[in-house]
Amino acid sequence: MLAKLYQSDWTLIYSNFHEFNLAYYLLAIPLVFILHDFYFYWTHRLLHTKWLFKKVHLIHHNSTNPTPLTSLAFHPIEAIIQGAFLPLVVMLIPLHVSVVIILVAGSYIYNVIGHLGYEFYPKGFPEHPFWGLFLTATHHSHHHKSTNFNFGLYFTFWDRLMDTTIPNYFGIFDAIVSPRETRGAG
Ligand SMILES: [Zn+2]
Ligand SMILES: [Zn+2]
Repeated sequence: MLAKLYQSDWTLIYSNFHEFNLAYYLLAIPLVFILHDFYFYWTHRLLHTKWLFKKVHLIHHNSTNPTPLTSLAFHPIEAIIQGAFLPLVVMLIPLHVSVVIILVAGSYIYNVIGHLGYEFYPKGFPEHPFWGLFLTATHHSHHHKSTNFNFGLYFTFWDRLMDTTIPNYFGIFDAIVSPRETRGAG
């Protein structure tokens, strides 16, 4: 679909690296992830409204203990809602073709990480001023356990801002990684 859009002149995707300067190219990478996270957070909140949750999003939540395969389990309407981000962003913002590839690959990788069921980040990661901005497997796995919290995709901004982070997230995270670190030390 992306290739068709690209050929149709509807998109602002560019392939000549010199069309925009390097600073724009480099800034576009975090920008698309921040925009995608914004889009995902709010559409995800929408999917948790009563009717949409029952009719659409429940398929994804059938797994209370997610695995990487859970990242592929969703209703076709949810696929349309979430799939709409890419055509929208490439029609609105000039992006180098490699930035589009980084976004697509990054979204798949982060989706798998979120459903990994294994926390590989170290103790204290969520409390770190910079790394704490990134979502962890523990964060999304608790979205599957208690559906009223942790709606983000890549970042923790919106959950923090809207007060939808699970209470005691830091404590839950450290309790998960602590036994592993104790074992490693011993
Ligand atoms: Zn959900
Ligand atoms: Zn999920």
